[in-house]
Amino acid sequence: MNDELIRTVNLCKIYGAGEVSVHALDGVNLTVPAGELLAVMGPSGCGKSTLLNMLGALDQPTSGEVWVAGENLARLRNVDAFRAKTVGFVFQLHNLLPTLSAQENIEVPMQGQMSAGKRRERARMLLEMVGLGGRGGALPNQLSGGQRQRVAVARALANGPALLLADEPTGSLDTQSGEEVLALLADLNRTQNTTIVIVTHDRRVAQATQRIVGMSDGRIVSDHRLLDPLEEDLRTLADSRLGQAILGQNGLKLDYLRSDERQVLQQLLERFERSDTTAPH
Ligand code: ADP
Repeated sequence: MNDELIRTVNLCKIYGAGEVSVHALDGVNLTVPAGELLAVMGPSGCGKSTLLNMLGALDQPTSGEVWVAGENLARLRNVDAFRAKTVGFVFQLHNLLPTLSAQENIEVPMQGQMSAGKRRERARMLLEMVGLGGRGGALPNQLSGGQRQRVAVARALANGPALLLADEPTGSLDTQSGEEVLALLADLNRTQNTTIVIVTHDRRVAQATQRIVGMSDGRIVSDHRLLDPLEEDLRTLADSRLGQAILGQNGLKLDYLRSDERQVLQQLLERFERSDTTAPH
């Protein structure tokens, strides 16, 4: 078994029939290694949510296969158990139950999985993890939008899923709350090694991940692995008119750099040149 968590093979989804049919997914082949933080990006209606629903066994493909954690989802014996244990969902609207406290909302998916005492203990731990320790007794309407979304993330993690699927998780939040939720997801990815797929139409959200898969009309049209932030910035600079002007002057004007800095920059530029011929854009 390799460390591949997701594989879709020629995934197709057609809604409706005849003239009114919509090819929401049109031959999607996507492989995601375990531990990746990935964004699926594209305009409204391009099939992002449909793909996410397929990955979480919320919907069935018209044709093609979806494999998650070594299981062919079409052959699952117990779909509910798969959804409860292997995947967690975060939606644009948090969908918390309004009459239950934050703590109780997080405990809901754990019912039937462990004793009441363990549920309480785990929910408290998850609340701490999302930065809401001490707010467990609050009802959803006593929390801010960002806090509610963090409760929703904690609820999605209730049963320790290998895969977290997030559909526009910052879509209904202000910029700062959105950034906090994104930082939380990135942190979970790093510390818990949870594989996370975020669907978004927002480039800033996508830029916070490690890989951006672009979709259009039900197909994957680009697949771009992000470098570390410094390299991304340097690449942007190198692609800019200013960068081109500097690079175009027959050798760089690096006189103002120390020799060690010059060496680092030179190595980075050599890497750009190598990756320019191989990396998809
Ligand atoms: P996105 O998430 O990128 O906005 P969706 O996956 O929601 O796109 O939708 C892809 C296409 O499938 C759209 O044209 C949408 O109208 C259509 N679609 C989605 N769900 C249904 C459905 N239940 N019935 C019919 N058409 C649907």
